[in-house]
Amino acid sequence: MSFKLKFWGVRGSIACPGRDFVTYGGNTSCVEVAIDGERFILDGGTGIRNLGHWLSKKDVRQATILFSHTHWDHINGLPFFAPAYRPAHEFRIMAGHLADAGGVERVFAGQMQLPYFPVLVGAMQASLSYHDFRAGETLALGRGGTVKVRTAPLNHPNGATGYRIEHGGRAICYVTDTEHVVGAPDQNILRLIEGADLVIYDCTYDDAEFGAHLGWGHSSWQEGIRLCRLANAKRLAIFHHDPDHDDRYMDRLALAARRQWSGAFVAREGTKIDLRRLDDETAPHPLHTLTGNVAQLADCQTG
Ligand SMILES: [Zn+2]
Ligand SMILES: [Zn+2]
Repeated sequence: MSFKLKFWGVRGSIACPGRDFVTYGGNTSCVEVAIDGERFILDGGTGIRNLGHWLSKKDVRQATILFSHTHWDHINGLPFFAPAYRPAHEFRIMAGHLADAGGVERVFAGQMQLPYFPVLVGAMQASLSYHDFRAGETLALGRGGTVKVRTAPLNHPNGATGYRIEHGGRAICYVTDTEHVVGAPDQNILRLIEGADLVIYDCTYDDAEFGAHLGWGHSSWQEGIRLCRLANAKRLAIFHHDPDHDDRYMDRLALAARRQWSGAFVAREGTKIDLRRLDDETAPHPLHTLTGNVAQLADCQTG
């Protein structure tokens, strides 16, 4: 059994390249999950462009793309996802918030229209299939339906879907974008993340910033920790970073979060996680493996 993931884009809202964003990365939301040779792609933000190059190099020709929702930062890398333009490739595209809003195919094609983009979706030669479900359903994906994917509705303008991908007794959750209510933990999310090995959560703000952004549809890293603790989840990946939070800010956040809960770390573009090794005492310390950022910061402070 293999169960791995890689962060290809960790930003929210808009990509933010530049020298102040080198450590944590500037690409928007995209996470690759590989289970026994099958690929699941969580969102198609700008990070999916580099993932596409990697899949081409590895000659991977099939994947299931699961959208949390279809705001720009979660879809606008897809027109630059090179494998979609190649014949003899196959992608299944799924969303849980569009069944009553025209469906995922219409929305997917909608961003590839004149005069916004010069290439129409018809130029994609891969076999693309579209599937709308309703957030809350449980999906059986992968060959023979062996990968169980539970879903839940999130609190976000125009709707969004949280995912829990389970395989071989392990579970990872992808919960972005969502806004919490102070003092009232989201019961849908608590059920979804119960006992999960890893929860990737919308941590756009900290609690102090959150109050000035009510209604924007995002949450805080402190709420992520509260939810993980309540649900007995093992680790929190702080995700969907605000594009105004540069590397120095994120370094401080990483330390503050780890002080508050040792299971928390900041997701960084390029970080890989092997779900099977999270509890392996003989492996390098998981958080050390997961967060080169904290190790790097320690280096900076001593150097
Ligand atoms: Zn977003
Ligand atoms: Zn959004």
